[in-house]
Amino acid sequence: MLNLKLYDSDVRPDWCPGCGDFGVLAALKNALATLELPPDRVQISSGIGCSSNLPGYIKTYGHHGLHGRPLPIAIGIKIANPNLVVIVTAGDGDEYGIGFNHVVHAARRNHDVKLIVMNNEIYGLTTGQLSPTSKSGQRTKTSPDGSIIYPLNPLSTLLGAGATFIARGFSGDPKQLSMLIQEAIKHRGFALVDAISPCVTWHDIYDEVRRKMYKLEDVKHDPSDAVAAYHRMNESEKIGLGIYYRTEERPSFEELMHSEITSSIPAENVKNLTKDQIAQALAQFQ
Ligand code: SF4
Repeated sequence: MLNLKLYDSDVRPDWCPGCGDFGVLAALKNALATLELPPDRVQISSGIGCSSNLPGYIKTYGHHGLHGRPLPIAIGIKIANPNLVVIVTAGDGDEYGIGFNHVVHAARRNHDVKLIVMNNEIYGLTTGQLSPTSKSGQRTKTSPDGSIIYPLNPLSTLLGAGATFIARGFSGDPKQLSMLIQEAIKHRGFALVDAISPCVTWHDIYDEVRRKMYKLEDVKHDPSDAVAAYHRMNESEKIGLGIYYRTEERPSFEELMHSEITSSIPAENVKNLTKDQIAQALAQFQ
C-alpha cells in the first residue's frame, strides 16, 4: 500500500464541517493507495457543485469543468491515454440531472471510466434546491410544500441502459466505500459508485441512512443476477450497500476500439499511424 500522504493537496477542503464529501475523499485516497496507483497514474474530472471541488483536494491529475459535462472530457482523456485510471467525481445534480444524458451513453458504450456520484438528494452549493434524487414530499427551497415529483432511480435506470458495474456506498462507512471504489477501478468498463453523501446543511439524511441501510453481502446478494439487482435497487424502505450488479461479459469501448484499429491495420504499422488514419478509424465509433 502506498503512503496516503502522496495524495495530499495543498488546498484544504472548504466543505461544511460534517459534510459527507469528506468521507468520500478519504475513501478515494485509501482506494488509490491500496491499489498502489501513484498520483501520476490517475485523472479525476468533475463538474460543478460542492462535491465537484474534489479534484482540487487530492493530488492527481484533475480537471474541474462545466456543470454536468465531466464525462465527455474524461472519456476523451481515457481514449487519448489508456494508461491513466480515469475517474469522475460529481454530485447528483451534476450527473443525474444536468449531465445524465452523458451517463446513460457512457454506460451503454461501456467506456472504461469510473463514476463516483456523491448523492445527497439536493443541490447543496446553490443552497438547497430540489435535485433529481430528492424524494417525493421532500421540502426544499424550491418545494416548500413538499416535492410533487417522483425521484429518479439512477441505479435501475443505468441497469436498463446496459451498465456493467453498479454499486452503492455510504460516506459514513469509508472502509466499505473504499472497497467499492477499488472494485470499480479494477472493473473493465464503465462503473458507477453511487456514494450516499449527506449534506448536513440543507438535507441531513445520516440518521435515515443508518436506520435503513444493510450490506448486500450479508443477504448473499448475487451481483451477476440482474433481476435480483433490479428488485434490490427499487427497495423503498431499505438501502442496500455493496455491489448490486457486475458483469465482465461485455468488452469495454476502449478494448473494442483498440482491436478494431489493430485488426484493420497491419501490426507492424500500428505505431506509425498518421493522424488522418487514426481519425478515420475513430470516426466509426462516433
Ligand atoms: Fe456539503 Fe452541503 Fe455544505 Fe455543500 S452545503 S459542503 S454538500 S454540507
